[in-house]
Amino acid sequence: MSIQIFGLPVSRGVAIGRAVLIASSRVDVEHYFVAADQVEHEISRLRVARDHVADEISTLKADLPAEAPPELAALLDVHLMLLHDDTLSDATKLWIEERHYNAEWALSAQLEVLARQFDEMEDDYLRERKADIEQVVERLLRQMVSTGRSKSTPALGGASDRGGSDPLVLVASDVAPADMLQFKRSVFMGFVTDVGGRTSHTAIVARSMDVPAVVGAREASRLIRQDDWVVIDGDAGVVVVDPSPIVLEEYRFRQRQSELERARLDRLRHTPAVTLDGHAIELLANIELPGDAPAAMEAGAVGVGLFRSEFLFLNRGGNLPGEEEQYEAYKEAVLAMRGLPVTVRTVDVGADKPLEPMSSQELRHEHGLNPALGLRAIRWSLSEPGMFRQQLRAILRASAHGKVRILIPMVAHLGEVKLIHEALARARAQLDEAGHAYTRVEVGAMVEVPAAAVMIDRFLRHFDFVSVGTNDLIQYTLAIDRADEAVSHLYDPWHPAVLGLLNRTIEESRRAGKPVSVCGEMAGDVAFTELLLAMGLRSFSMHPARIAAVKQRVLRADTRMLSPKLRAALESDDPAQAWALHAAHG
Ligand code: PEP
Ligand code: MG
Repeated sequence: MSIQIFGLPVSRGVAIGRAVLIASSRVDVEHYFVAADQVEHEISRLRVARDHVADEISTLKADLPAEAPPELAALLDVHLMLLHDDTLSDATKLWIEERHYNAEWALSAQLEVLARQFDEMEDDYLRERKADIEQVVERLLRQMVSTGRSKSTPALGGASDRGGSDPLVLVASDVAPADMLQFKRSVFMGFVTDVGGRTSHTAIVARSMDVPAVVGAREASRLIRQDDWVVIDGDAGVVVVDPSPIVLEEYRFRQRQSELERARLDRLRHTPAVTLDGHAIELLANIELPGDAPAAMEAGAVGVGLFRSEFLFLNRGGNLPGEEEQYEAYKEAVLAMRGLPVTVRTVDVGADKPLEPMSSQELRHEHGLNPALGLRAIRWSLSEPGMFRQQLRAILRASAHGKVRILIPMVAHLGEVKLIHEALARARAQLDEAGHAYTRVEVGAMVEVPAAAVMIDRFLRHFDFVSVGTNDLIQYTLAIDRADEAVSHLYDPWHPAVLGLLNRTIEESRRAGKPVSVCGEMAGDVAFTELLLAMGLRSFSMHPARIAAVKQRVLRADTRMLSPKLRAALESDDPAQAWALHAAHG
């Protein structure tokens, strides 16, 4: 029977595919596709783990003290039996053979299937056996995780690598941003998660992949089963499970429409972004990895306005990238941009981007404290001065290959400014000493903490440019955790306080003659293009996939007509409505 699940629309378009469910398990397992020639190897890993666990349980049983209750031995027998049961081992093998899941993923997928079957059993005794199967699978997973990752190389590429020809969509309780990155070049046509907000980093990565996504869909991973046909409507925030033929046809029609629209927008790729009244607008790209730079060029970006360098640091198992590795990564982006500027933001780890994979839910459980208000971004860098200078050296060295700018995230205190400039001076001196080449690099601050926006004039004295991170500026102005779906209805870019701070930052920067850009998600949302133009913004940084649509708005805008609309919106208690009304009558 068809069901609908509602969540937050975070990445546009319609995706139709079979659900690949990533179950949240108590053991942290990796999920990736293995190449066809690695299937046997994965199956043998499963076998080895099973034999090992069988030995383990048999030894446990043999070592039971004589006075142990007989139920304990019986329980271990049940576990041994479950371990060898076909519904576990054969079915798990099938996930590997047919879907090319790695062994751990296959096992947790099968556990999910079995757990549901147990849940539906009438008999209390049988229903309670679910805990046993969970324990057995957990033992197997721990065994596989402890013996290390498979030798198989993850094959996230083409459909030929994964068996089956149906399109796939990913359904999970949560996906950490670093894991999302793993899926970046994967086969998934869309994403659904139970948790997350519109500007959580998981949503941002989904948007950068330009695939439809719905987050905060609460019960999705419980209601959707492996292999279910699912429609993800990324425009409306709706997920339809097991759609009827009529509904499916309607969505296929919409899919074709958006493809046509995309093709039309594509033609604007090389058109300069100039408003009707002649203002040249800079449309820059946000990237996560150097490998994203070619897509930015392809989309017609005139530079990189935000390189989220922290993605180089995530999921490294404590083995963080050193100066050389970072230098190579920044250089790769700089060379790919062929002389266009590349703005590298220094690491912004912490909050919903922990160094090691952890979903936002786990993060909250683990730390209890509020990580968004903790040691993240420049605070983290200043607490690790050696690492900070290492990154600054790597970025400075990349400037020998093209135009590079440094962007500092989450600046809030003037005291930080002094430390940043001292670190830069030392990094330069170290490069001079080592004989490394670099050129003059502009240094900018992100305006994403209200304190920075309120006293923007003072910060502007110390930086060459600023870039407004509206995702965090909204989060901190309204005290709304951007990753928390429970308060996502209060996350409001139109809030008068947010617009006031944004307007003030743009105005003051222009008055000071310093370049100002917006690199938060508002910059790539066409609902705000005219508003930002009206505020005087001339530089926007967004996911490459958004550039064409924003450019279309720019080409149709006349900033002379926008001033009264802006005044009305800024003075209104309901700016969104005031802006829309003006649009209707203006
Ligand atoms: C922002 O906060 O708007 C921003 C661009 O940075 P991030 O989304 O990476 O926090
Ligand atoms: Mg930010």
